[in-house]
Amino acid sequence: MVPARNQVLITKVLPDNPLDSACHLDKGYVYFRNYEGRILLGGGRNIDHQAELTDQFGNTPVISDYLKTILETIYPGGSNKIDYWWSGILGVGPSKYPICEWVNPDILVGVRMGGMGIAIGSYMGDKLASELDKI
Ligand SMILES: Cc1cc2nc3c(=O)[nH]c(=O)nc-3n(C[C@H](O)[C@H](O)[C@H](O)COP(=O)(O)OP(=O)(O)OC[C@H]3O[C@@H](n4cnc5c(N)ncnc54)[C@H](O)[C@@H]3O)c2cc1C
Repeated sequence: MVPARNQVLITKVLPDNPLDSACHLDKGYVYFRNYEGRILLGGGRNIDHQAELTDQFGNTPVISDYLKTILETIYPGGSNKIDYWWSGILGVGPSKYPICEWVNPDILVGVRMGGMGIAIGSYMGDKLASELDKI
């Protein structure tokens, strides 16, 4: 499993926000949606793949310029209305399947959710609890 950083921006509230659903671009590497009247936009790690294989939080000019260009396409002038930036770290790997396994007799891991932890984290939690029940 390797870390994969994703950089994210959110604009101020835009009275004429054009988005009414979640959207993906470029095989899902870029994601954007309306969040309480703001545009939330993130991703793009594929354009600087090696540099984003990091567990260090941060924002870089390469990715932020790329995301601003996309924001300008969705909402011209939007790059002047960015409220703040942040980053998060995903656990990814050669397979999209999460890992639930004992790495030694005392350590059970539930990892590699590939940025889908909200959707599948509780299922993973249930699986981990079942494993512990077997002891
Ligand atoms: C960029 C990005 C996009 C994502 N998109 C999606 C998506 O579209 N769909 C999806 O299903 N999942 C997505 N995920 C994954 C999802 O965000 C995580 O799996 C989920 O938030 C994990 O929940 P959690 O409660 O375990 O941890 P977190 O949400 O990280 O919560 C942990 C909390 O504990 C706090 N904390 C940490 N240390 C301490 C301490 N010592 N004392 C007190 N508080 C502490 C932190 O501040 C934080 O508030 C995404 C992740 C990232 C990084």
